[in-house]
Amino acid sequence: MRSLVLIGHGSHLNGESAVAAYRYAELIRARGLFDEVIEGYWKEEPSLRQVLRTTASTDVTVIPMFISEGYFTETVIPRELGLGHQGPVPPEGIARVIGGRTVRYTLPYGVHPGMADVIVARAREVLPELGPDGPADGIETALIVLGHGTTRNENSSRVIYENAARLRERGLFSEVHALFLDEEPRVTGWADLVRAPRVVIVPFFASEGWHTLETIPEELGLSGVVTPFADTPHGPQQVHYARPVGTHAAVAEVILHLAEEARGAGGPGGDTERGHEAAWQAFLTLARRGARVGELLVTPELGVFEIRNALDEGRPGGDLMTLVTPEGVRDRVRFTDGGEHRPVHTLRSLPRGWRAVLNEADLRRAVHYTYPAVVEETYAHGCHALRPTPWATTARRQTGIYAKVQRAVPEQVERVAERVCAACLRTRLWAGEHLTHSFLDGVPGGMPCAEACTFLVAEVRAEVARKKAASAS
Ligand code: SF4
Repeated sequence: MRSLVLIGHGSHLNGESAVAAYRYAELIRARGLFDEVIEGYWKEEPSLRQVLRTTASTDVTVIPMFISEGYFTETVIPRELGLGHQGPVPPEGIARVIGGRTVRYTLPYGVHPGMADVIVARAREVLPELGPDGPADGIETALIVLGHGTTRNENSSRVIYENAARLRERGLFSEVHALFLDEEPRVTGWADLVRAPRVVIVPFFASEGWHTLETIPEELGLSGVVTPFADTPHGPQQVHYARPVGTHAAVAEVILHLAEEARGAGGPGGDTERGHEAAWQAFLTLARRGARVGELLVTPELGVFEIRNALDEGRPGGDLMTLVTPEGVRDRVRFTDGGEHRPVHTLRSLPRGWRAVLNEADLRRAVHYTYPAVVEETYAHGCHALRPTPWATTARRQTGIYAKVQRAVPEQVERVAERVCAACLRTRLWAGEHLTHSFLDGVPGGMPCAEACTFLVAEVRAEVARKKAASAS
C-alpha cells in the first residue's frame, strides 16, 4: 500500500490557491499508481502538522508543489512534518520513519529535469509549428524561459538557468535565454538581446495570476497570445506568449517521476496504518447508525450514505443540490454560503443547500474533505494518543514573518483565540481545555484541537503588529 502527499502553500484568504494541488492530485489519482493521493497545505487543512496522520498507509511519499527550492521546501515543510531536517534537500530526498510511517520527502517538482519537457509543451501550444526537431516552417525561433527572480532566493533563478541550458542543448530553438521579471537580465530588455524574428516566452511560474496575466503582458506591451513588434533593434519580431508551466497537465508526469525516484528500487510498499484504519472503522460504525459530525448530518440509506448540513435536516432532497462525488463535496464546503473561503473547516460556517449521496469509500473521502484530519485526531484523542502542543512551543517554532508571534504575551494570545476559536467546533487542548466526549461518542461538536492552527498564528501576528503600530504612534 502506498500514499502520495502533495503539499501546496494554500491561503487563508484566497480559495483558488489550493486548486493546483487538487488538480494534480486528481490527475495522479486517475492513474491508479498510488492507493491514495492526499493534499496538504501550509495555510489550509489538512495542515502540514496533520497531513501525515491522514494517510492510510505506512509508505508515504511527500512532494512539495513548489516551482523552486527555498524557504518553504527547505525550512517550513520539513519542520512542520517533523522530518528533523533543515536546509537544502539532497537530490535523492530525505527518508524518515515518523509515527510508524516511512516518509520520503522529495525536492519540489519545479527542479526536476522533466520540467524542460513541460516548457516545450507550453511553447508548442502557442507555436504549433514547433516539431520534434524545431519549427517545421524553418523560421528561426528564440525561446525565453521567464523566471520571477529575486535577489533573496538564488535557487529560484538557478532553476531557470538550468532549464535554459537543457533546452539549448536540445537544439529546438535558435536561441534560448533565461530572463527575469525582478532581477537582471530582465525580460523588459528582450528586444536588445534576441535576434530571431520569432520569440516564444514561457513563464516558469507555478500558477496563473497577477504576474502572468497582468504585469508581464503590461511591461512587455503584449496584446494577446501573438504580438507583432514592427520596430525592434533586430527588425520586425513576433512574440508568442505561453501560459505558465505550473498549470500544465504534464506536471503530473513530473510528479510521478519524482515519486518513483524517491522510492528507488521500489518494493511492495507499506501496510495499512492501523491507527488510521481503526479511526475510520470507528467512524463508519457510527455512520451506519446515522450520526452528527460537527455541522454534518450523516444518514445511511439503502447501502449508501447521505450527508448534508444538519440545519437542512428534513428538507426534501429535491430542494437541495445533489452531489455524487467527494470532489463535489470538497468544492462545495470550501466556501461559505456567502462565498467566503474557509481555510479552517471546523469553523461553524458549513454551507447549506446541498446533499451528497455516496458509497462507503466515497463517504470517507467526503468527510476527510469536510473535516480534514478530524476523524483521525478525534480517535487518537479517545485513545490518549493525541499530544497537545502548548502555544509557547508553537510560537517558538515560527520563523520568517511569523517569528514575531513569540513576542505575544499570554493575554494577547488568549484575546485573539477567544475571538477566532469561538467560531470553531474544536476544543483547544493546546490551551488546557478538556474534551471529555467527542462526536464518536455522540456529542456532535466534540472535536479536539491539539495545536494552534496557522489561521490563529496569523491572527496573533496581526495583533502583535497592530499593538506595535499603536504604541509607536
Ligand atoms: Fe479552531 Fe482555534 Fe484550533 Fe484554529 S486554533 S483549529 S480556530 S480551535
